[in-house]
Amino acid sequence: MFDTLSDRLTATLQNLRGKGRLSDADIDATAREIRIALLEADVALPVVKEFIAQIKQRAKGAEVHQALNPAQQVIKIVNEELVGILGGETRRLNLAKNPPTVIMLAGLQGAGKTTLAGKLARFLRGQQHTPLLVACDLQRPNAVTQLQVVGERAEVPVFAPHPGVTSDDETVTGDPVAVAKQAIEEANHAQHDIVIVDTAGRLGVDEELMRQAANIRDAVQPDEVLFVVDAMIGQDAVNTAEAFRDGVGFTGVVLTKLDGDARGGAALSVRQVTGQPILFASNGEKLEDFDAFHPDRMASRILG
Ligand code: GDP
Repeated sequence: MFDTLSDRLTATLQNLRGKGRLSDADIDATAREIRIALLEADVALPVVKEFIAQIKQRAKGAEVHQALNPAQQVIKIVNEELVGILGGETRRLNLAKNPPTVIMLAGLQGAGKTTLAGKLARFLRGQQHTPLLVACDLQRPNAVTQLQVVGERAEVPVFAPHPGVTSDDETVTGDPVAVAKQAIEEANHAQHDIVIVDTAGRLGVDEELMRQAANIRDAVQPDEVLFVVDAMIGQDAVNTAEAFRDGVGFTGVVLTKLDGDARGGAALSVRQVTGQPILFASNGEKLEDFDAFHPDRMASRILG
């Protein structure tokens, strides 16, 4: 992840080392190199443009800093701007004042929603929460069973319609909206303070998928809707994110498969384009390959 981008940026910034003073031409040349590196990493063009404009403006207008040489000063600016496009501060989950907190997951099929549901449940259980996983992906064969498997591994109960019914209430059917509602009742009853609702995805964005997700959203009024996106799809993540923003709306993003050979475009574009923060990063197939997303750490990783 980010290897090529990281190498390019490091090499570009390395060229500035040893220079006593940076001319505007030096800054323009550096900005050009950074622009190419970002475009090659598949970062969305509007994000690249704004980033480069900021770097130029700040680097040219920078006061001479006592403690930093010019190269260090540019590196500091690039680092700060990277942290900025990645979201600035780490954004924590919004927890409801009156539990349960409802977290709904949305995204394309294969994005990693079900895996993430297990990871998030395990993560929250580790923070002394008592989550309940809810199987509302009733489209894909095996999705319910798959959630039950991750639930078992996370040691978190799963609320699901048949097969694997966990409620006595016979009105639970194959309707995901009904399942979601029943799950909230179950959470109230069994004192789960967080409900994580896994929803169906399609291979591509489609209206029915959006409608179903929007219906579930309306029924359970989630405190967070997390858009789950595979970092490997690069800039396509931006188009998908825009479709979900318009069709369902979301309050945060989870990047998955950051362990893969992703160039970085999704991570660097999605916050800026959608206006919503990245909350978590998923780094592998195991439940423990997961953490809160820290923009500053990610920026440091990119700058090597
Ligand atoms: P869903 O269709 O959105 O529910 O996606 P799944 O959770 O079923 O994940 C699709 C595939 O991606 C599965 O094979 C997962 O094991 C895999 N996967 C999920 N998250 C990650 C991740 O962070 N890294 C890697 N390498 N694979 C992942």
